[in-house]
Amino acid sequence: MTDDSCLFCRIIAGDVPSEVVYRDELILAFDDINPVAPVHQLIVPLRHVASAAELTERDAELLGRVFAVAADLAREAGLAAGGYRVVTNIGADAGQSVAHLHFHLIGGRVMAWPPG
Ligand code: AMP
Ligand code: ZN
Repeated sequence: MTDDSCLFCRIIAGDVPSEVVYRDELILAFDDINPVAPVHQLIVPLRHVASAAELTERDAELLGRVFAVAADLAREAGLAAGGYRVVTNIGADAGQSVAHLHFHLIGGRVMAWPPG
C-alpha cells in the first residue's frame, strides 16, 4: 500500500527527489536530508509500514534484507572498521517524525551512548 500523504511513500514513488544509494524489490535507501554524521542514510521498505511496532514474524525477509543492505552500505561508505549505528525511532517519545518505517544508518564519527 502507498499513502499519498506519506513523505517516504512519495520519495519511493519518485514524486519527491532524493539521493538514492540502493534500491531492490523490498527496500529503498537514500541520503538523509539533514545528516547528523558524515554518513547518514535511511533504509525504508517500499511497502508503507508506519513503524517497527507494526512488524511481525512475516516481515523476517524484509528485516534480514534491511540489515544485510545496511552492512553493505556501511562497507561501501568505509564504516566497517570503525563501526556505525543502525537505529529506528518508534513514536513521539523516541523522536519519530516520519510515520513510514525507516532505519537510520549513521557513521563516520564517534557517537555517544545513551542517546539523548
Ligand atoms: P525520524 O525523526 O527518526 O522519524 O527520522 C526522519 C528522518 O527523515 C530525519 O533524519 C530527517 O532528516 C529525514 N528526512 C525528512 N525529510 C526528508 C527528505 N525529504 N529526504 C530525506 N530525508 C528526509
Ligand atoms: Zn509511507
